[in-house]
Amino acid sequence: MSILKQEIQSLGIAKGATLFVHCSLKAIGAETQAETLIGALRDAVSEDGTLMFPTFTSRQEDYFDPDNTPSVVGVVTEVFRKMPGTLRSKHPRHPVAAQGPLAHQLLDGHENAVGPCGLDTPFERHARMGGQLLLIGVDFDTLTLLHTAEAILELPYLSDFKGKYLDKNGKVQHIMMHQIPGGHRGGVHSFEKVFRQRDLISYGSIGNARTMLMDAGPALDTMIELLRGDPAAALCPGDYCGDCVDFKAKIRAKQLGYLGAKLSILLPGNPKNPNNFKKMLEQFGITPRFELASDLNIVKLKRDQDPPTPPNNESPWILQPAPEDLVKVEKLPDGYAGFAYAPLEAARAGIEPFYGVLYKEKCRDYVTDIFIEDGLTDLPETMTPSLEYLSELVTEKRIVLGQGHGQLREIISAMRMRNFSGRYHIVVPKGDLYVETMRLLEEFWALLP
Ligand SMILES: [Zn+2]
Repeated sequence: MSILKQEIQSLGIAKGATLFVHCSLKAIGAETQAETLIGALRDAVSEDGTLMFPTFTSRQEDYFDPDNTPSVVGVVTEVFRKMPGTLRSKHPRHPVAAQGPLAHQLLDGHENAVGPCGLDTPFERHARMGGQLLLIGVDFDTLTLLHTAEAILELPYLSDFKGKYLDKNGKVQHIMMHQIPGGHRGGVHSFEKVFRQRDLISYGSIGNARTMLMDAGPALDTMIELLRGDPAAALCPGDYCGDCVDFKAKIRAKQLGYLGAKLSILLPGNPKNPNNFKKMLEQFGITPRFELASDLNIVKLKRDQDPPTPPNNESPWILQPAPEDLVKVEKLPDGYAGFAYAPLEAARAGIEPFYGVLYKEKCRDYVTDIFIEDGLTDLPETMTPSLEYLSELVTEKRIVLGQGHGQLREIISAMRMRNFSGRYHIVVPKGDLYVETMRLLEEFWALLP
């Protein structure tokens, strides 16, 4: 028996296994032929076993022709695809090739699945049929099964694409593809530690290449568990990777949507570069809607005053009674669009902003706008007279989000339980607009569950 065969026989591949292989021929050593490797793997699974390789396609192809469109994921996959007796699924982006008794069962109808890697695809079927997964000279980031877990959890960073494939009658079929993985996933390497702790990987080698063998079912379940705990678990940590930052924004946006929040960023002045600013907000999953504090019309009432008629009725004016008076003016006077409430202001007046006003006095039933105004609130010159009060609220100039001053956790709680359905405004203080907004948003996001 050749050394290659001996090495493969000692990896732990089961006779009769359904074996899905991701591999780098180069890692094994220059002289190894793709045909030899495939032959040895076939022998390892025996005649009763089924061998599978990814045969993914280039995005540049006009349409996918299962018989002729080349695989772009390595020379072994391309050789395997062309072998007699190999079947290939018809998904335009993520087709899979297989040889063996279960090939049809694994591949048929792939093009009709919701996503290329999710439920009822060759990847998911392989895992649920008790298949084994072999990585030869490639790392965790080649594990397509990660995308199966992502698709099953319907993670928000998966996207849609239009695709075309040639059907068996030679007709080009158009399909809308959902749950397309795309993009980068630098954090997936951290999964190996968990796999190791749970004894899910057998390590070995073929030639110079390191190998990892695992059972696909437990591997899939473990990835689902990790991603359920943290939907960003497979993404790059930090903010150096553009792809992963965008993906995290989509997760945040979904979270916000789930919380039912209507969030606006209230700025003291126009950002120097509005497009950069828009992009920055998008990174935080916020629909790029920012408002200028000066554009927001507010009539601020001193304590015990009666609301005047708003200066004009052309734009929506919002009435802001003193916290103590909020409950007294619950009927909105003519000409006003809603009631604003600033929890911090109530806190400074010695009132418990949430328990005392919003909940006990049931003000949440008629308050339409809440200002999340903690942070540096040194705003004076840029403010319109109607908003000047914001700068009067804080003498020490710095209030830190979520550290008790504004009972901001209550805001999150109100979002979560949907017992306040109005708008939240994050008030950005004067200063370096980009830095301050970033800091506020980071603190705000840290409060989210
Ligand atoms: Zn990344």
